[in-house]
Amino acid sequence: MEKSIDDTRRFASMVSTKQGWELNPDAEFTESLLEGLTVNWNRYGYFLCPCRDSEGSREADSSVICPCAFAKPDVAEHGHCYCALYLKTGFTASGGVPGGIPDRRFS
Ligand code: SF4
Repeated sequence: MEKSIDDTRRFASMVSTKQGWELNPDAEFTESLLEGLTVNWNRYGYFLCPCRDSEGSREADSSVICPCAFAKPDVAEHGHCYCALYLKTGFTASGGVPGGIPDRRFS
């Protein structure tokens, strides 16, 4: 079933609450990631990470279905996930600025 951006927003809020993270407070940036997730859901049938390419199947993409397998270690180490959709609570409030981090997917 097709998802709307509001469905995806609810999903992302639920994930961040459950994990004890927060969504990136940059509303425009976050909106573009939520849009990417929505497009991916409606294209592939799962929330493929909006910052990564599909490898062709759900199985091949399983590690990068949001929230991806690398989000926890990335938030713990860098303060945010690879896309910077999810941040460690207080990351920006304490002066953190999300930046490019290495992708653990193929490492
Ligand atoms: S990096 Fe991981 S947690 Fe962050 S948006 Fe992409 S799939 Fe989701």
